[in-house]
Amino acid sequence: MTLATRDHAMRMLGVRLRAAGLASPELDARLLVMGVTGASDIEMLREPGTRMSDAEEAHLAECERRRLAGEPVSRILGRREFWGLSFAVTPATLDPRPDSETLVEAALELLRDHPSPRILDLGTGTGCLLLALLHELPQAQGTGVDVSPEALSVAASNAAQLGLSARAEFHLGNWTEGLDGPFDLVISNPPYIRHGDLGTLEREVREHDPMLALDGGEDGLAAYRALALSIPGILTQSGHAVIELGMGQADEVRSLFESAEMCVLRAVPDLAGVPRALVAGRPRR
Ligand code: GLN
Repeated sequence: MTLATRDHAMRMLGVRLRAAGLASPELDARLLVMGVTGASDIEMLREPGTRMSDAEEAHLAECERRRLAGEPVSRILGRREFWGLSFAVTPATLDPRPDSETLVEAALELLRDHPSPRILDLGTGTGCLLLALLHELPQAQGTGVDVSPEALSVAASNAAQLGLSARAEFHLGNWTEGLDGPFDLVISNPPYIRHGDLGTLEREVREHDPMLALDGGEDGLAAYRALALSIPGILTQSGHAVIELGMGQADEVRSLFESAEMCVLRAVPDLAGVPRALVAGRPRR
């Protein structure tokens, strides 16, 4: 039996991760100790003196080795929290980012007076956007689309774990191809990194997020072009699209949607003030 308590192990790990220059060492250490021991936030606070087993210590040492090698905590644990819900992540799915919660907020605002919308999530990955919305809107139904069968099976199992399977369906395909509309809300976090910039991304992103979810083609806008062309055809007349924007892309994406006869209403900033969620509707007839 080891003498290390959870609290001590967390603090010591935090010090080592900080010394290695990681961006959020204390949070990483806390999440790893919680992941390895199964302790909740409340247990970490209320029972700091609980000792770790030898197996837990060995597991934590392995997690530390992986974190120091540049693997994100969510990949090491296979889980990530988004919108207060826990999602499985695998190498086939983008790691959900807090920035993308801006899209969920914007969508909920648009759906305030629409209790039972049909929602479409294009490029669903873990399913985080669709499932956060279904969780908030008990009468909504939704479809998540992805070109990756592996990602779709992660999204489907996340739906099951969150108790949302009855209202979520998943469709393998290319954007809106083969879908039966119309939908009241289309949400999407498409790949938007310029191909030539992929090599400059942080190691955590470059080496662990799937390229399919990042690579936006030569100018980063390839997916937006496809979305602008296909969304108007599956949106209800009063429906809206909420689309994630990469840094500095708001103007270009706005023009793409406007040339596809969509009416861009606003670009909602994320917590850092970066325009992150483009909101568009159909022009009034
Ligand atoms: N937000 C991710 C990043 O900048 C990219 C995700 C995407 O291309 N949709 O790391």
